[in-house]
Amino acid sequence: MKKLANYVQGRWQEGTGEGAVLFDPVLGTALASVSAQGIDMAAAYDFAREQGGAALRKLSYAERADLLAQVAQVLQANRDKYYDISLQNSGTVKNDTAVDVDGSVYTLSYYAKLGSKLSDGQLHLDGEADSLAKDKAFASQHVQVPVRGVALLINAFNFPAWGLWEKAAPALLSGVPVVAKPATATAWLTHEMVKDVVEAGILPEGSLNIVCGRPDGLMDALNGLDLVSFTGSADTAATLRQHPRIQHDGVRFNAETDSVNCALLDPEGSGADLLVREVVRELTIKSGQKCTAIRRILVPQASYDAVSKAIADKLQTISVGDPRNESVRMGSLVSAQQKKAVLEGIELLAGHCDVIFDGRNTPIQAESADHACVAPMLFGTRDPDGQALVHETEVFGPVATIMPYRDPEHAYALARRGMGSLVASVYGEDPVFLAQAALNLAESHGRVHVINSEVAKVQTGHGNAMPQSNHGGPGRAGGGQELGGLRALAFYHRLAAIQASPEVLAQLTAGS
Ligand code: NAP
Repeated sequence: MKKLANYVQGRWQEGTGEGAVLFDPVLGTALASVSAQGIDMAAAYDFAREQGGAALRKLSYAERADLLAQVAQVLQANRDKYYDISLQNSGTVKNDTAVDVDGSVYTLSYYAKLGSKLSDGQLHLDGEADSLAKDKAFASQHVQVPVRGVALLINAFNFPAWGLWEKAAPALLSGVPVVAKPATATAWLTHEMVKDVVEAGILPEGSLNIVCGRPDGLMDALNGLDLVSFTGSADTAATLRQHPRIQHDGVRFNAETDSVNCALLDPEGSGADLLVREVVRELTIKSGQKCTAIRRILVPQASYDAVSKAIADKLQTISVGDPRNESVRMGSLVSAQQKKAVLEGIELLAGHCDVIFDGRNTPIQAESADHACVAPMLFGTRDPDGQALVHETEVFGPVATIMPYRDPEHAYALARRGMGSLVASVYGEDPVFLAQAALNLAESHGRVHVINSEVAKVQTGHGNAMPQSNHGGPGRAGGGQELGGLRALAFYHRLAAIQASPEVLAQLTAGS
């Protein structure tokens, strides 16, 4: 069985020991192993900062943007191979793989294009200079300069491709070297992409590194000027926040965590068809393993029965099983461990809610008994105020709960019981209601996706994190912020106020 090596200090290094094994979640076969045991993380970070960071900072934004475009080309050229790895290691159907793999190329290309328009000067002026003395004799100019530390990118198992590049693209464009630490269960795809990009020799040595597994010193060897961008569960984020490098030394930490997102139908029920279509899509894409997936469906009381039935009828038609089978529309969960966690979550909700569509009766089209496939489940509760569990429980699979609301204020209050989510979507035709709902939901959601029939054909999907839009949410969602165009670069820059004479301030941009 192949062992995936780690790429640090400009060379591939195999970890010691047997390491952790990666499996095919449908066939149950072992695919590869990973180990980062014995990797010297202090030396790895030093090399990244000193070689990678220095080389990246010598380039302009536009030059770094050009490197991103070249990376996107390499990924595009190897697309078929990535689809195959995804099929084997994540158990995904082609449409789901596209979100991850093609989403990576799109995101990289988007940042390449944005970056190509940035000024070639290495200073990012932040606003105008503010006068600190009479006649502007002394003034304050804010600047954004690239961080000189290293960015540790810790990712979740559900997006082994996009999860890396949506973080790495703004980091590299900013001139900051990255160390990727993919989730172990699906690390193969991330590893293969990094290998292809390293072999293509596009990026300066030390700027793109990867460790697979959990090396000693992953957090300890960071210093106070480094960054950690984390995606994963709220529990892991809470553990990492306690780490002395973050809690005490000031390592900047961005967390994208789990979220009990909602979809809201307008009080007249005019958006019912649009909502039903999107809920079914969200329940089935990547088998519901999306941090942005719809977990709660809020509908007016009068629509509860009809919408429940419409969703259930559509779920009835979804074929679940081995993605190698052409007739299968929804593939597997990523691992046996994940299947166990999802089945436990289903049991928990089943103890408190009505079962509206019971995927446990859906035949699974997979030959191996070891498959990690789970069919969609739709729960319902007519008492959304009394069922705290449905607002707090993220079952990270094809599971959602529908609930009735009395009036818009009640709906917004229920949405807020998610205690901060990545995304809410709203469906209807009345622009006044849609806009009011958007503003009411914006405070507790990083993104509000508003759909009427006018945009039905062009909309980008409730769960798709587009690089143009903010990705992240307050409270339980981690309090983080990613993407959103150039806003993503702020995390990889430091803000400083330069207080000086106008003549000196003018020199800040001289030659740019
Ligand atoms: P997880 O168990 O929290 O793991 C996330 C990452 O953290 C993995 O790379 C994991 O490595 C690493 N990790 C765990 N403990 C660590 C520690 N003590 N020190 C350093 N690294 C550590 O989450 P997951 O199970 O992979 O992903 C599912 C969760 O992620 C769901 O709750 C989902 O909502 C959330 N998620 C959120 C977003 C978002 O953008 N908000 C996106 C995707 C997923 P190992 O794999 O080696 O354990």
